[in-house]
Amino acid sequence: MKRFPIILLLFAVPVSICAAGNYRNFTVSVYARVYEVRRMGDLNWLEPRWEEISRQVKVDKIYLETHRDMIVADRETVGKLKRFFQDRGVCVAGGITVTVNEMNRFQTFCYTNPEHRKKLKEVVEYTAGLFDEIILDDFFFTNCKCESCIRAKGSRSWTRFRLDLLDEAARELVIKPAKAVNPGVKLVIKYPNWYEHFQGLGFNLETEPKLFDGIYTGTETRDRTGDQHLQEYLGYSIFRYFENIKPGGNGGGWIDTGGARTMDRYAEQLWLTLFAKAPEITLFDFAQLQRQIRPADRAPWQGQQTSFDFDRMMEPLIQADGTAVKPTTIARAAGYALEQVDGFAGKLGKPVGLKSYKPYHSTGEDFLHSYLGMIGIPIDLVPEFPDEAPLILLAESAAYDGAIVAKIKKQLLDGKSVVITSGLLRALQGRGIEDIAEIRATDRKAVIKGFRGQNPLPPDLHILIPQIQYLTNDAWELVSGMTQNDLGYPLLIQAGYAKGFLYVWTIPENFSDLYSFPARVLTQIRNVLLRDFFVRVESPGDVSLFVYDNGTFIVESFLPEAADIQLSLDPKHGKIRDVITGEELTGQAEKGFGGGFGFGMGGGNRMKYPVQIKPHSYRVFETVTLPPKTV
Ligand SMILES: [Zn+2]
Repeated sequence: MKRFPIILLLFAVPVSICAAGNYRNFTVSVYARVYEVRRMGDLNWLEPRWEEISRQVKVDKIYLETHRDMIVADRETVGKLKRFFQDRGVCVAGGITVTVNEMNRFQTFCYTNPEHRKKLKEVVEYTAGLFDEIILDDFFFTNCKCESCIRAKGSRSWTRFRLDLLDEAARELVIKPAKAVNPGVKLVIKYPNWYEHFQGLGFNLETEPKLFDGIYTGTETRDRTGDQHLQEYLGYSIFRYFENIKPGGNGGGWIDTGGARTMDRYAEQLWLTLFAKAPEITLFDFAQLQRQIRPADRAPWQGQQTSFDFDRMMEPLIQADGTAVKPTTIARAAGYALEQVDGFAGKLGKPVGLKSYKPYHSTGEDFLHSYLGMIGIPIDLVPEFPDEAPLILLAESAAYDGAIVAKIKKQLLDGKSVVITSGLLRALQGRGIEDIAEIRATDRKAVIKGFRGQNPLPPDLHILIPQIQYLTNDAWELVSGMTQNDLGYPLLIQAGYAKGFLYVWTIPENFSDLYSFPARVLTQIRNVLLRDFFVRVESPGDVSLFVYDNGTFIVESFLPEAADIQLSLDPKHGKIRDVITGEELTGQAEKGFGGGFGFGMGGGNRMKYPVQIKPHSYRVFETVTLPPKTV
């Protein structure tokens, strides 16, 4: 009698099937490096650790790494672990990290070295025999400059050489060998967060996403004071960018616990990934999820019911047997944040943003788009020229398209608008941009201490901008910065061409100085750039807006204190609802300034909603469709 249920269970649960489905709107995965995979082979080591993680965050899937740093997990261990997780309803997939020694400045494989090539092929074949899905972590690039690579490079640039080298390696050392062993294997390449520099190290966004079955996105931005200069908004925009490169094929976002100076920062990265509608989120990694919660993780702004409520996160968890267990590790922060977003993520439509074209393998104005996201400009980075959009934004990277000036001209002739940054203007000088308007990026700079028509600014504010020169009456200055001696320099210039408009947007020499612009100046800029959006924010910097095609939107503040801001909506939206609290808000119609000088087009005739956003918090809204008036 005692045996009967066990036998039933064996027949009822085939080992190849996993249950998953802990969340309604996404899948949550954990990645385990080969170092931990090898230790997991000892189930006495694994069991308490897995129990501690999985009671704090519900896990649908685990990636078991077979190789990193020339270390390979043996077949017996991997087989044992597959059974362990599948028995617990957790899906399993494989992972490969192509490093020689991660600790030695991320030493990658050398793809002109026959031994390294042979090793990668063997690891891929071995792993494809074990799993039906394999993800390549971050390192399928090369930074090798050995003599053999220098010889093989010849007269090509490092960028061209490495793009070609890794394209060949993807086909010959990964895809062909894997499919030969397991024709049904799903191969996924995971890209890290530094997309602006990829081409120089051989990550080929043009060819690889087509070669692989899926791609995956590093959405971790960690601490923006770090040397990567990654702004928080990048966690959202990079996912959308990669989704636009392989529509429907961007499998998920991936974050680690690094650089999270407060627990809020860790949670922020998770929910920004999900605001981008990532279908899966991977928590890197099994070892990091055991990191203990420390008192210093509780940010100074806690205790105000912010989106990440540290004290609620620390509430004891009720177990299946009725006992309560206090949260112990960062896994609970993940669980808490993910459960919260799952409550409303299903209400969000498809993310939309200001179309901005970044050609493949381009660079320039490093990661500028993510800074623009931090001043309330929703960004939608695309790899192809979006000629259907009524207004597009082009940064310096667009200069990599040899036909860019002709494309800009065509937009204007079609009655559309194009905003170019001062960096792109500089790059296009002598390439025909002057045929549209004789606006020049000079070598001179100006130190801005204020803004025309605005109240005095803090005396320590000094913003360095390039001086842009235009011909009076051929072009118009819509927004101006002022020097110590009240000289004005253009921050936004408008020039007509046929029925269209070219705008030149002066970007400060230090991009993050945009965050110091007063709310009213940022609003002038937003009114021009986001003239077609049903919602805009009127707020200081460090406040982001996420817009969806079904009338929902999210406002998130990265400020350490509460922000009193205004939402500006299309006048047809007389009511909005806070999706989390259910509270309904009624707008105030405002005619304001519209169409004329200074405030830009689209500034007037809007429905305004004053709202407060708590520190490091977000609010989710939906527009309310009012029933038709009965006569
Ligand atoms: Zn080499």
